[in-house]
Formats: sequence, structure tokens, C-alpha cells
Amino acid sequence: MPVLQLQQVEKSYGQIKALKGVSFEVPEGSVYGILGPNGSGKTTLLSIILDVLKADNGDYKWFGEPGSPEIRKQIGSLLETPNFYHYLSGINNLRVTQSISERGSLQSIEEVLKKVKLSERKNSRFSSYSLGMKQRLAIGAALLGNPRVLVLDEPTNGLDPVGIAEMRELIKELHKQGHTIIIASHLLDEVEKVCTHVAILKTGELLISGTVDEVLTDEDIIEIGAEDDESLTRILEDFQGHTKLKKEGDYFHIFFEKGTARPEEINAFCFSKGVRLSHLVFRKQRLEAKFFELTGN
Ligand code: ADP
Repeated sequence: MPVLQLQQVEKSYGQIKALKGVSFEVPEGSVYGILGPNGSGKTTLLSIILDVLKADNGDYKWFGEPGSPEIRKQIGSLLETPNFYHYLSGINNLRVTQSISERGSLQSIEEVLKKVKLSERKNSRFSSYSLGMKQRLAIGAALLGNPRVLVLDEPTNGLDPVGIAEMRELIKELHKQGHTIIIASHLLDEVEKVCTHVAILKTGELLISGTVDEVLTDEDIIEIGAEDDESLTRILEDFQGHTKLKKEGDYFHIFFEKGTARPEEINAFCFSKGVRLSHLVFRKQRLEAKFFELTGN
């Protein structure tokens, strides 16, 4: 069961289409990067899955169920830096957050401080913290109640290189401790370093999603779909010449060694078995082109 499933999520602000039918799945135990340049719809997407905004169309499920207050308790989030009190210490700020949110217990605060590596400075005033420490305290607040999932919007924003490296280590450690982590970022490089999976958005459109290896792979990937999903599943096992086959959202990804994929052959094969494809995309070329657009190289 995936932690999160999005199905054709759409959202507009007046004339601006911020999300144009986005679907992907976040597997349990992943660090899932939602990548895209500014304005691509990342914050809108996170706001929807956290029930801050309502989608115009489409649907999402946490642990296979629609969002509810019960489910939300299993999700810690950091959409924007919370308003901590500058004159209070780190630990007192978390006490305030804990009593307002009623997530976790007062006893668990020490443990949270340890996780975000602020135990030694817990009694210092918030105003004396570096930006990196402030951001780690904010992640501490999101960790109250020991949620299974953490949702972080641009957690490295404004940090210097040392702060960015510390954040990277923290995310890796939280991942090791078993949290599934969803991160929005516009930094391709950062996402590549910490994430196991990635979805790439551009002006509200999902360009690609999958494991980092798949997305950054040198292989050819052909993406197909058919109305008759069951028959397609059955016949694809007999298709020769591919290295891997994977269901990704609504579609199948068929992997080939670089330069060996022949979309027309797959199409003919499926047709010969009585399955008409409703979707056929050669991902490699598209991905490369989009990646250049995305990174501005
Ligand atoms: P990102 O987080 O990737 O930078 P956003 O989700 O913030 O992207 O924005 C996606 C698009 O929606 C952008 O074109 C942005 O200008 C627009 N947008 C976001 N919030 C609003 C809003 N409250 N009103 C109007 N347009 C908005």
C-alpha cells in the first residue's frame, strides 16, 4: 500500500492552471522529491495533500484512505517556517507548539531535540540560533507525535552550504529511522543527493516520476497505457527484449537498453494480442529535453 496516491489532481487560481491533472504514488519508506522550478505547482500540491487547499478535480489518498483528522496525525509537515518566539529557548518553543498542536507528549520533546541535533543548544534563545538551527527546530516541531510521514516544502531555502549539508544529513537520518519523507525543492542537485524517488513538475504538469535511478537513467523507457489495463498486464509479460517492466501510476514503464527501444514494435505487439494502446510515449528523449529546460542548462 503506497503512503500517498494522487489521481489526476487539478487546481487553478483564476486563469492560472497551477496543477494540470497530476498522478503519482509515494511508496512507504521513500524519500520522495517533488522537483520543479519556481511556479511549477509544488507548494500548491503540498497544500492540497495537507488539506490546506482544496483541489478542483482529482483525488488523493493517504494509506489508501481519504484525508481525515485521524490520518493527518500520522503526517508531520513544514510548509513554511513556523512562528517561533524569538525570546524563548528552543525547548520552550517546542513545548508551546506541543501544547497547541496536542501532537506527541511533553516527554517526547527531548527525544525530538535529539533527533534534530539541538539537545546541546535546547536552552538557548531561539534568536541566537543560526538559520540552519531554526530550520531544524521547525522540523522538530513537525516530528512531534512521531509521524510516519514528513512533508517538507523547500527545507533548504535560505540556508548556506553548511546548513544545506546538515539538512541533507538530517533527512537521511530520519529516513533511516523509518520516516517516509516528501520534499518539495527546486534544487535538482539536492534532490538527487537525498531522494530515493522523484516527481518532476513543470508549470503544473507532471513530466516524469519514479525512482531516481529510473528518472536519471541512461536506459530507454517507453510508457504505455490502455483502457483494458488487465489484458495489458497479462500480455506484456510475453513481450521480448525489455530489461524491466514497472507499473507507474496509470501507466506501465517498459525499460530497454539504451538505443534499443522500438515504440512501433510494442504498439504492433499489443495490437496483435488484441489490446489497443491509449497512451504511448518514448520517455528518454522527452526526459532529456525536459531536463535541459528544467535545469536551464
Ligand atoms: P512552486 O511552489 O513550485 O513555486 P506554486 O504552487 O507556489 O509553485 O505556484 C504555482 C502557480 O500558481 C504559479 O504560477 C503561481 O504564481 C500560482 N499561484 C500560487 N498561489 C497562488 C494564489 N494564491 N493566487 C494566484 N496564483 C497563485
